[in-house]
Amino acid sequence: MYSRVITEDYLKNKINGPLKNKEKLIALRKAFNTTRDRQNENKVSFPDLSERKERLKKTRDFSIGNKELLAQAINNFEKNGFRVYYANTKIDALNFILKEIGDEKLIVKSKSNVTKEIGLHEHLEKNGIKVIETDLGDYIIQLSTEKPAHPTGPACHLSRHDIAKIFSDAFGEELEPDPLVLTKIGREKIRDYIEKSKIGITGANAICAEEGAAIIINNEGNINLVQMREKKHIIVTSIDKLYPNIEEAINMLKLCTYYATGASITSYIEIIAGISKTADIEKMLFKGMQGPSEVVLVLLDNGRTEAFEKGYKDLFYCIGCGNCLLDCPVYYVLGNEYGYKGYLGGRGTSASFFLEGPDNALENGLFFCTTCNNCEISCPVGIGNAEYSEKLRENASSKGMIFPTHEHILQNIKKYKNPFGGPSTKQLKEGNEVVYFRGCMGLYREKEIADSTMKILEKANVSYALIDEVCCGSVALRTGNEKIARELAKENLDKIKQTGAKTVIFSCAGCLRTFMKDYPKYQNVNLELLHSSQYFLEIIKLGRLKLKDGKKQKITFHDPCHMGRHLKIYEEPREIIRRIPNIEFVEMKRSKEDSRCCGAGGGVKSLFGDLSISMANERINDANEIEAELIVSTCPFCKRNLKDTSKMEIIDLSELILEYSI
Ligand code: SF4
Ligand code: SF4
Repeated sequence: MYSRVITEDYLKNKINGPLKNKEKLIALRKAFNTTRDRQNENKVSFPDLSERKERLKKTRDFSIGNKELLAQAINNFEKNGFRVYYANTKIDALNFILKEIGDEKLIVKSKSNVTKEIGLHEHLEKNGIKVIETDLGDYIIQLSTEKPAHPTGPACHLSRHDIAKIFSDAFGEELEPDPLVLTKIGREKIRDYIEKSKIGITGANAICAEEGAAIIINNEGNINLVQMREKKHIIVTSIDKLYPNIEEAINMLKLCTYYATGASITSYIEIIAGISKTADIEKMLFKGMQGPSEVVLVLLDNGRTEAFEKGYKDLFYCIGCGNCLLDCPVYYVLGNEYGYKGYLGGRGTSASFFLEGPDNALENGLFFCTTCNNCEISCPVGIGNAEYSEKLRENASSKGMIFPTHEHILQNIKKYKNPFGGPSTKQLKEGNEVVYFRGCMGLYREKEIADSTMKILEKANVSYALIDEVCCGSVALRTGNEKIARELAKENLDKIKQTGAKTVIFSCAGCLRTFMKDYPKYQNVNLELLHSSQYFLEIIKLGRLKLKDGKKQKITFHDPCHMGRHLKIYEEPREIIRRIPNIEFVEMKRSKEDSRCCGAGGGVKSLFGDLSISMANERINDANEIEAELIVSTCPFCKRNLKDTSKMEIIDLSELILEYSI
């Protein structure tokens, strides 16, 4: 249930900070660029990258939610001398860990998103236990009021100056902003605490069923010291870290390291498959020889089983590499305001729905996602947040949680059959070759796109029909209101079928995606559905439309996410631009599959206009970087949002074709 305290204004305020003050984002982006560069450098170490990713995905699919495998794992851990505790809830886990700690007053711990999830650090401190984070990044965060910005590089958004200030304040002495000096100071402080503590708490990247072993990776070497505390090692992890065996877990660890840091291998891989023991003297068993005499494994559920059973299993394929954050347009402009604790970005927000509840997801960005699906491309296990955002928004709206701005749009759709409340489509036309679906943006906002398209069809003597179309339903779907979209789909398809034409062409990438991907879920479509650029290329090739000389101009193409990543249509618009003589076509660094979202989709533009514009500015920067003079796109929504930055000329491909066709 939603408590209604998270309002539109509350969220606008929340994102206002990072949108206005980009200081923190500078360090974050620099760190992300370094990771990308290292990934590119080390790509040679992974000639089998695709096979590895495929193998990992299969393993995750097999293991997650596999109750027999989990039972096997628990059984084998117990055989190896671990004490295993299955914690259904956060409270269960906290109470259990507190009991395990007993009278100890100092705990050292290593990086673990699961401990962040349950609020272990805060809980122990509340109970009078001093907790020291031993990963340097986490230690910096602990000493500050900052939130982590990356699952493996929590302090990557802080500059040396920020960290010098944090350390100076914490240690009561003025420290120089020298990264090496600061690192050495951090090391000494952390080491001192480690030596004094008797219990260490770590997470685990993997738990392996066949061997009953937990695996933890790190570069700093702190894990080895933490897990070797003489009294007890407590491993706190979650049930989605399950792997059938060590071999499959190692495959994951290699990919996780590569995507998290760009390195081909991590410095340390700790495999823990039992307690420290010896029987060297007369076969008498002695526990706790050089390491701890007790190892306790806490397996947290906390809503995961429910999520697996409700069809969100894939969301938990995540291996925590953070690679999805590097290309997410929202994360690029909001940083760690998007996501919560260690679970950042779109996937983290969606997961938080189950781990923390709907309000948490709402507060941390359920409605920030533009549904661009760049994350699906970046993610080694192919988690695309667009689908989850839409499903969870659907869940929110079914419980009456609709923001007033979206509610107004939906009311317009219900009443006027378009999101803008415009009059119904008057201009109708008979024709038997194709139906031209103009889309709400073409009819009410970017009318020149529809006008240009019709003029091109007339030039080429195409017999086209115009129908009294209604909104395709994309807005309703992306904001979580499928029922409305179903009704609109029926109305549009009935009208199109009455024309007798077998092909429908679209100017809007969003309408095309909705017809191609969503309508078939409701009824049989049985029509050829094409973007206008695909159709135009066909008629150019047939000689029905001829292109004349263009102006000498450097033109780039912006791939709309709904047409590119969602429908994999990349080449046709480019081929048309290249066919226009004199025009110099230039690609932006991020193009095609990796194209940066314009920021308008997913209902974000209507709800958080400044956020959309901030993302559009980044896309304009991409075009400026290659000194393009004009951006061409194939979606009226992208055109509108990029144009709203007022920083560069943007036109639709149909306008370009109209100008340069005979
Ligand atoms: S779909 Fe796009 S905006 Fe949403 S989380 Fe993924 S990359 Fe970010
Ligand atoms: S969603 Fe994918 S890319 Fe993002 S952290 Fe998880 S595994 Fe890595």
